[in-house]
Amino acid sequence: MGQLTRPRASIDLDALARNYHLLADRAGGRLPAGVVKADGYGLGAVPVARRLLSEGCSQFFVARLDEGLRLRSALATAVTAPEIYVLDGAQPGTEDELAAAGLVPILNDVGQIQRWQEAAMARGHTLPGALHFDTGMTRLGIPAVEADILSADPARLNGIAVELVMRHLASADEPGAEQSVEQLGRFRRLRARFRQGRASLANSAGTFLGPEYHLDLIRPGIALYGGAPLPGLSINPVESVVTVEVPVLQVQDVGADVPIGYGATYRTERATRVATIAAGYADGYHRAATLAKPAELGEPPTRTVAIGGRSVPVLGRISMDLIAVDVGGLRRDEVQPGTAVELLGPTCSLDQVAAANGTIANEVLTSLGQRYQRRYQGDPSTG
Ligand SMILES: *Cc1c(COP(=O)(O)O)cnc(C)c1O
Repeated sequence: MGQLTRPRASIDLDALARNYHLLADRAGGRLPAGVVKADGYGLGAVPVARRLLSEGCSQFFVARLDEGLRLRSALATAVTAPEIYVLDGAQPGTEDELAAAGLVPILNDVGQIQRWQEAAMARGHTLPGALHFDTGMTRLGIPAVEADILSADPARLNGIAVELVMRHLASADEPGAEQSVEQLGRFRRLRARFRQGRASLANSAGTFLGPEYHLDLIRPGIALYGGAPLPGLSINPVESVVTVEVPVLQVQDVGADVPIGYGATYRTERATRVATIAAGYADGYHRAATLAKPAELGEPPTRTVAIGGRSVPVLGRISMDLIAVDVGGLRRDEVQPGTAVELLGPTCSLDQVAAANGTIANEVLTSLGQRYQRRYQGDPSTG
């Protein structure tokens, strides 16, 4: 049985690299961008980006200005500086920082475009930017009326070197969704009016909708990190990248009808052994999914962790730092303080864990928190 002194997240950058090339093959051999927002979906934006860079990736997407600034300085010694796109765009007052760090804002409205143009004029040279059109999410992006204003007056883009024209799919993870077909059609019509730079539409799921969605650049996130790009695939085409393990802290023999955890929402059905393990909702193991539900909503989904490759059920409510699991089915010598418990990995797949938590793989990863010791396999900077 594996032993551990502290919670650990092992990140296999070789698997990440294989996923990257699998996605490139899907996109007809064109190298994808790497989406590394939210600290590389919780796995570490810098080691992830360094490895992707060494695989030939030259474009990265982050959400926030600060994510972009950190990535730019971490990659400062790269032989060729990658393009770093900031999805939040050029928010008022951030233009100087964006320009100084050579970040590319994804321009989301005519106000941003105008301020970015003014920043270029003030510097006396063009600045790179991307145009993001909103065609169906009403989230971020240039609305249709503003697209009309821009195409009626192309001078509004003077001084901006448009590297990319993009939009985002709203329903890519529902194959056959009419919304995707409609969004593709609307994007093509926009592209006919804005022909500068490369065109980009697909996230991970969009990559699997068909070649017509690939355009010049795909922008996968979750599929790089091992999440199934589409639900309901019988085989997940990408490899698992992260294994999360925590130690057992204590093992207790308990009788029947003994309450476990806050609120005594669970009582043992029979005498068993209970192991308390070093993880909780502060480590991304959501409490909400184990709250007792009204009877008409049915039983909450059973959540399991694994010891030595065997699944064991989680008991009662999740605490901030602790989870109780039923280890009555394992031998006494198999579960001791320090025994490694898998929360995510070969036995507890990312997509199964997401389903048991009532969420998606993206949220499982971005919720992992800061209390795991991260170990990287295949980090080019450490050899
Ligand atoms: C997050 C994001 C992506 C990546 O999405 P996945 O579903 O994780 O592949 C791509 N494009 C944009 C605009 C995003 O915000």
